[in-house]
Amino acid sequence: MNKHQIESGYRKAKAEILEERDHCCESCGTTSKFLTPSHLISRNDANVIGHPELIIDKKNIRIHCIDCHQSHEIGKNKGSDHSENNNYFLELHESGIIPDWLLYKHTKI
Ligand SMILES: [Zn+2]
Repeated sequence: MNKHQIESGYRKAKAEILEERDHCCESCGTTSKFLTPSHLISRNDANVIGHPELIIDKKNIRIHCIDCHQSHEIGKNKGSDHSENNNYFLELHESGIIPDWLLYKHTKI
């Protein structure tokens, strides 16, 4: 996948996810604040490990309000606060897509 495919795929995924998840923050549940997508595995890490397709994997994207987005980005809850996220990371690790260091970065083991 080239950069252009990733960017157009990401725009499409964002729009679909907002619809599918009822325009609601997946962390605190609000519908009244500005919503923005957060990646569990960051775009940078996805590129570093050679799997840029994770950038447009809907399971790798959470919809957060601006407040939850900020606490996500500064690392307070990099996704490990939800058990379904942990399962996602473990699946990716078992399939050999993410290396050990990336699993440890995101899970509380
Ligand atoms: Zn929120």
